[in-house]
Amino acid sequence: MSLFSHRVDLLGTENAFKIGPCIKEVEDTGARVIRCNLGEPDFPLARHIREEVKRQIDNDLTHYCDPQGILPLREAVARDVGAKRGLQVGPDRVVVFPGGKPPIGLSQEAYCNPGDEVIYPSPGFPIYESFIQYLGARPVPLHLEEKAGFSFGGADLEPLITKRTKIIILNFPSNPTGGIVTRAQLEEIAAVILRKAERDVRVYSDEIYENILFDGSVHHSIASVPGMERLTIIASGASKTYSWTGGRIGWAVFPTTEEAAVFKNLNINYFSCIPAYNQMGAKCALESPESAPEIRKMVTAFQERRDQVVRGLNAIPGITCQLPKGAFYVFPNVAGVCDQIGAIAAFASLPADIQERTSPSTLFQMFLLFRHHVATMDRKSFGQIGSEGRHFLRISIATGLDDLKQAVQTIARASRDREGFAAFVKEGRRLY
Ligand code: PLP
Repeated sequence: MSLFSHRVDLLGTENAFKIGPCIKEVEDTGARVIRCNLGEPDFPLARHIREEVKRQIDNDLTHYCDPQGILPLREAVARDVGAKRGLQVGPDRVVVFPGGKPPIGLSQEAYCNPGDEVIYPSPGFPIYESFIQYLGARPVPLHLEEKAGFSFGGADLEPLITKRTKIIILNFPSNPTGGIVTRAQLEEIAAVILRKAERDVRVYSDEIYENILFDGSVHHSIASVPGMERLTIIASGASKTYSWTGGRIGWAVFPTTEEAAVFKNLNINYFSCIPAYNQMGAKCALESPESAPEIRKMVTAFQERRDQVVRGLNAIPGITCQLPKGAFYVFPNVAGVCDQIGAIAAFASLPADIQERTSPSTLFQMFLLFRHHVATMDRKSFGQIGSEGRHFLRISIATGLDDLKQAVQTIARASRDREGFAAFVKEGRRLY
């Protein structure tokens, strides 16, 4: 009998965390690594939120609380989500989670039986694909194409919907591509869902980057399209908007109070409840007039970094990089570099069991980290199924501009270092 369940073998991961020990290993040699791997804003938590959390700890809000989320935060979320999307949302439909991540897996757990199908964007947040497989549902990747700005329309979605489609995951602005969606596209996507999907389908709309938009773009939610509110789970949270990844506050608005009650019970089973002092901090973040200027400052910095990084990357032979419209990642196509440096040929000559774990862009990513000390993420980290032959890197721009400029220069140098790459692969220690 094996120690672990078969299920555990199917669980994926988020490599942006998993690569931490590799970075440490490089740093232990005395080198400094420029970290462009994690999706974590590099701004401090704003003072007004920080003070509110401290105040609530002093108020003794340090005990168990409502597993659905404390009412003042649920009311604040209901007002914010409703007002921004033109919806009437009550606090009974809101559930608070320890971050934006838990409702992803919990939704699949709550709505899917083994064999049910989940459509999800690829490249996309890795936890989508990880959980689908873990729960025995069937992953149906919707491949986002560079030429379409990593967005998609109804015609791309339609052929993937079947009678077994239970959840359709949308993520705009998107991780890892920064793609966004227009209202017209959402109307088209909604029309296809309403026409072709079963009545009890759910759209999981991951809107965690809703406030990080560039060039004056505005956020659109599929829940605002007529007929879609009753099918849509709107998920968001405090991690990205308020640069508060350590607060672990996320939320979701469910189509009905009955569904919210199921998630409350899942919370009881998994977490009991989420720290009330942080929930009061999130309420303050959502309601305080001091938050908007803080968000603007951060988004302005991200936009400037985006412009410089994308310009720098596009000047490197073998790289093309689109201008992301939101979130804080750039997602360059490195196919040319993988070719010129020898990564595609090196990959082709690897044994099958190693090929399964790596890819040409993974080889380049590891080479960048171990030989040139820049941490990035490979394409395969954002959905493995169907990622073959697609050569991209994700570079988080949630790092200071000086470091980012240095990272781009280093990537340029590494992309010419054919000899160094050949030696790195020959050594064979870090191929995935
Ligand atoms: N959804 C997407 C698309 C993300 O990129 C992330 C974090 O990177 C999350 C959810 C999870 O956010 P949190 O840190 O609040 O759990």
